[in-house]
Amino acid sequence: MGLYDKFARLVGEREQFQTSGLNPFGTCIDEIYSATEGRIGDQKIILAGTNNYLGLTFDATAIAAGQAALAEQGTGTTGSRMANGSYGSHLALEQEIAELFDRPTAIVFSTGYTANLGVISTLATPGTVVLIDADSHASIYDACALGGAEIIRFRHNDAKDLERRMVRLGERAKDALIIVEGIYSMLGDVAPLAEIVDIKRRLGGYLLVDEAHSFGVMGKNGRGLAEELGVEQDVDIILGTFSKSLASIGGFAVGNKEMEVLRYSSRPYIFTASPSPAIIASVRSALKSVAKKPELREKLWKNAERLYHGLAKLGYELGPRISPVVPVMIGSKEDGLRYWRDLIANGVYVNLVLPPAAPAGITLLRCSVNAAHSDQDIDAIIDAFATLKNK
Ligand code: PMP
Repeated sequence: MGLYDKFARLVGEREQFQTSGLNPFGTCIDEIYSATEGRIGDQKIILAGTNNYLGLTFDATAIAAGQAALAEQGTGTTGSRMANGSYGSHLALEQEIAELFDRPTAIVFSTGYTANLGVISTLATPGTVVLIDADSHASIYDACALGGAEIIRFRHNDAKDLERRMVRLGERAKDALIIVEGIYSMLGDVAPLAEIVDIKRRLGGYLLVDEAHSFGVMGKNGRGLAEELGVEQDVDIILGTFSKSLASIGGFAVGNKEMEVLRYSSRPYIFTASPSPAIIASVRSALKSVAKKPELREKLWKNAERLYHGLAKLGYELGPRISPVVPVMIGSKEDGLRYWRDLIANGVYVNLVLPPAAPAGITLLRCSVNAAHSDQDIDAIIDAFATLKNK
């Protein structure tokens, strides 16, 4: 069997989507004008399928900080955090993240994906039990596989199911690692963190929350779902990314002093190059906006509400709650593709998500709003969905 023969089915499936028109997987955005506007081919589009929640990708201060660092410190570190890739600015950013969360330790990784890989695979080794939500992001699954821990999946957002599985573990529950996300990226729903914390208080274990989509978005200071629910003290490790609210690329983990050991033991921390100085500088600037500009969060949630209500009024089936991620459920893959292309023709870009990336075998058009969208932008997105109904 040839090296690529095993992909025949996948290739066949993908070709189905490439026969005519735009390909939804890896679409080229030919030009990008702002946090909300771009161009695909001849079509100007409103960007309604990004993770740019606070709309900071074109923030003038963050751009200036990145440009200055590029000029002063060069284009890249050319080394890993453990070798020559830890500059003063990497350490300063770690200090600022630790202070924001009021935790002793923060560690910066090269991406959110490697943050999950670096933390989870190093802690969850053979002999450790990990309980993960069934809808966990691929980086959590991959991290568990890399670490070699015993993996127990519980039903998505079902705290009762988690509890049953913890009880079955008996004494082993005390050392188990529970992993959940803040906002789930496909349905926009949130983990039942208060119930999970209650289970942890009664049965033991450690709790890790991946706040990739909730950092900057939830909580008074933007620290995420755990802050919003007032349970941060019960969370052992919080993970986050720079690629969503912080509008750049990289990842972080915060926790107690013991977590420092990861710097000497975590292969995804040790064996990859560190983020470039320009990235770190723009992230440090964006981090200030998370804490100091609550108005961005307010506008984000207003936009989320406006889009959710507008689409609900049109009769679309949406996610379970108002969230910056607004999934529109579509019947079939074929309908999904047709709608996705029609939306672009009407000037709106969203993400087409097919199973298994979309949970429970559904096809969805994943819309997301950001703080930079105007009311007119949101209304234009709703209008584009309205035209689909009239076809
Ligand atoms: N965790 C979750 C929950 C995510 O949704 C993502 C990215 N979509 C990641 C981690 C990885 O983050 P990054 O893209 O910054 O590597």
